Amino acid sequence: MENTSVLISGASIGGPALAYWLTRYGFDVTIVEISDGPRPGGQAIDVRGPALEVAERMGVLDDIRAARVRMRGMSMVDAEGNELFRSEERTITGGDLDSPDVEILRDDLSRILAEAAGDRVEYLYGDSIAGLEQDADRVRVYFASGLQRDFDLVVGADGLHSNTRRLAFGPEDAFITHLGTYLGVWTAPNFLGLDEWQVFHQVPGSSWGGGAMSVRDNREVRVYLGFEAPEPLDYDYRDTSEQQRLLAERLAGGGWELPRLLETMKDAPDFHFDAMAQVHMDSWSSGRVVLLGDAGYCGSPLSGQGTSMAMVGAYVLAGELKEADGNHRKAFDAYERELRDYVSANQELALTNKARVEAQQAAAMTSETDADADAAGHPDQAAVGHPDEVIDFQDFGEIVNSLTLKAY
Ligand SMILES: Cc1cc2nc3c(=O)[nH]c(=O)nc-3n(C[C@H](O)[C@H](O)[C@H](O)COP(=O)(O)OP(=O)(O)OC[C@H]3O[C@@H](n4cnc5c(N)ncnc54)[C@H](O)[C@@H]3O)c2cc1C
Repeated sequence: MENTSVLISGASIGGPALAYWLTRYGFDVTIVEISDGPRPGGQAIDVRGPALEVAERMGVLDDIRAARVRMRGMSMVDAEGNELFRSEERTITGGDLDSPDVEILRDDLSRILAEAAGDRVEYLYGDSIAGLEQDADRVRVYFASGLQRDFDLVVGADGLHSNTRRLAFGPEDAFITHLGTYLGVWTAPNFLGLDEWQVFHQVPGSSWGGGAMSVRDNREVRVYLGFEAPEPLDYDYRDTSEQQRLLAERLAGGGWELPRLLETMKDAPDFHFDAMAQVHMDSWSSGRVVLLGDAGYCGSPLSGQGTSMAMVGAYVLAGELKEADGNHRKAFDAYERELRDYVSANQELALTNKARVEAQQAAAMTSETDADADAAGHPDQAAVGHPDEVIDFQDFGEIVNSLTLKAY
């Protein structure tokens, strides 16, 4: 087999999942991660469709199910905290409670995948790729720490603002599509006393606001608050205090528990803030460098499918490298052929979800009845209750299951 030494940038979801499969197939894997250790944080994310099958084939599905977020339901409240809508059948973050999908905290899933990948993976924490030089036989990698090493292949699994993508393909503006909203996520004490429950408040006249869900046996909540911004904002995405200032300014004067929730972000160990945005690229590889997950085809949290796409992408990329005996040209072409349609359809889901939220907003604003106020908190009811607002919503289940995994 050729090209056996592989550097992966990013140790969140795509990186460890790829490391698992590559080491299993006989590749030597190094992961460079900019954080000083496994990175905490992130709201509950979903593992669905073929990603469940990938987890099964990795032998981690039981661990993932055991660590899943347990929810009994959700409420929508008004500015005074009065309940407008409640459901014990589905939640905003995870969908139908009786579905086979697994909702799990990002950091828990990341840990499970990294443990499965095992000790054969070398980790370079607290470092980052500073320069890449490719020739016919290898990639010379210059690290921010001053380290310099050669690898056969480099995989960028370093997220929406991928460093690898910038170095190998150019500035991110060419690839990122802004979806008009920003979201902050962090951990806070469960001062709302939520019991396996999530509560959301939609700022009147806006499709945004946020909420909290209890996690880890109700000891803490994950807070997520967001705001609309039709144009991309100019801020340093590595400067946490600037991001916290932005969020506080945009949600100032909000009702319900928004002020108290905003207070908690200052002490959060894991504050994460980013745009809802997508990545679209004509090709996911350039020579010996290839992109995986959000770095190459971010769907945004609105799609609910970023994690599943990264896990499935890791399985397919590793499998195609194995099948091509390490020939990266053949493998990278096959990786794209196999995944393109699945990725495009799943990215489209985010746009559908956004349209759905906008339809709810329009419904809420044009209606004064209690029934309509209820519907405003529930995507399906909003669509059903307002036939004039009919949007061609795609069949979610069909799309998330639209890929049949090959056996490698
Ligand atoms: C802290 C955090 C919180 C998140 N919260 C949510 C959420 O609430 N909802 C949601 O839908 N999605 C969230 N995401 C995104 C979600 O994890 C992904 O959409 C999905 O799981 C695909 O994962 P990925 O591995 O492709 O990318 P990501 O999960 O984005 O991981 C990228 C990894 O690369 C690392 N990295 C970044 N820059 C460099 C660099 N220069 N060098 C080395 N490593 C680098 C990051 O620290 C991170 O570990 C979050 C991601 C992170 C990192």
